[in-house]
Amino acid sequence: MKAARLEDGELHIRDLPTPEPGEEEALVRITASGVCHSDLHLARGDWAGIRPPAIGHEAIGIVEALGPRAEQFVAVGDRVILGLGGTGGGYWCGACEYCLGGQPRHCAQGKGIMGTFAEEFPVYAKSLVKLPQSVGDLEAPLACGGLTAYGAVKKLLKHHILPGRPVAVIGAAGGLGHYAVQLASAFGYQVIGVDVGEDRLEFVRSLGATLAVDAEDALEVVQREIGGVDACLQFSARIAGFNLGLKLLRKGGLFVAVGIPATSEGNLQLNPFEFFLRDPTLIYSAVGTVQDMRELVELAAAGKVKTHVSRTGPLSDLPAIFDELEAGKYLGRAVITDLAH
Ligand SMILES: [Zn+2]
Ligand SMILES: [Zn+2]
Repeated sequence: MKAARLEDGELHIRDLPTPEPGEEEALVRITASGVCHSDLHLARGDWAGIRPPAIGHEAIGIVEALGPRAEQFVAVGDRVILGLGGTGGGYWCGACEYCLGGQPRHCAQGKGIMGTFAEEFPVYAKSLVKLPQSVGDLEAPLACGGLTAYGAVKKLLKHHILPGRPVAVIGAAGGLGHYAVQLASAFGYQVIGVDVGEDRLEFVRSLGATLAVDAEDALEVVQREIGGVDACLQFSARIAGFNLGLKLLRKGGLFVAVGIPATSEGNLQLNPFEFFLRDPTLIYSAVGTVQDMRELVELAAAGKVKTHVSRTGPLSDLPAIFDELEAGKYLGRAVITDLAH
């Protein structure tokens, strides 16, 4: 089978043996795999130099074979979405305090998923969610971009930010942000979408944002129009996005960090006196659980959220897609739709 591999920092398309599904695993023939910004960060070694050999972690495919005891969860021929944001979908024990508390990504036995830029991929069958036909293959980015945005929007309710209140989405036209604008709008929030450039702002308006503002003007506009937002969902992979998000909050606001800037961008700085004065709640939101994925598939089937795909191509286009993604050329996502070429 064809598969993308990172070797010494270079991306190659290799011919590899078809993997065997292990205990409770299903082998999935991949029909579409989204290109997440995390894949790019990993390929470039942006995060503390970590470069796994296999990348790709949001995909749709058909179950082709089952390992021992996987038949309890899926059947051969099922069309499924897989990935759970990469960090969540490889394995979780289901019985530790984190698994039982709804945070399986902290499970000591947890394993991630990496490697869906391949014709076939073995995956923990409990993490698979079956798809209705109305959710097409180009919705593959729901498995990470969509799930991560949904997880962040759900944090608003968990932290008592009520529908109707103003919420800023930073990086609103990007792979994650464009889902968050749709979902937060569908939940009834007043969404202030922040991005850069008129094309991207126009796109953010088309997704249902109440207001779309350029990052450069955001602080002034938000202070003038609303006085400050109740919460900020920060998807930008730049420290500048964190700094802006903290400034946009009203006193006692909720800051939900999602984007992870390159290690070389340095640390988030917080002045303790300002922290005291403004009293924000700071949390991180990563991916989601298999139950979140089921809910999100239902929202997609109901037409409440849709993936915006700017670019499709075969597996051999992946290096070019990384360059384009790095240059900020896409609204929404790029999707590999032919894993065999
Ligand atoms: Zn991702
Ligand atoms: Zn566990």
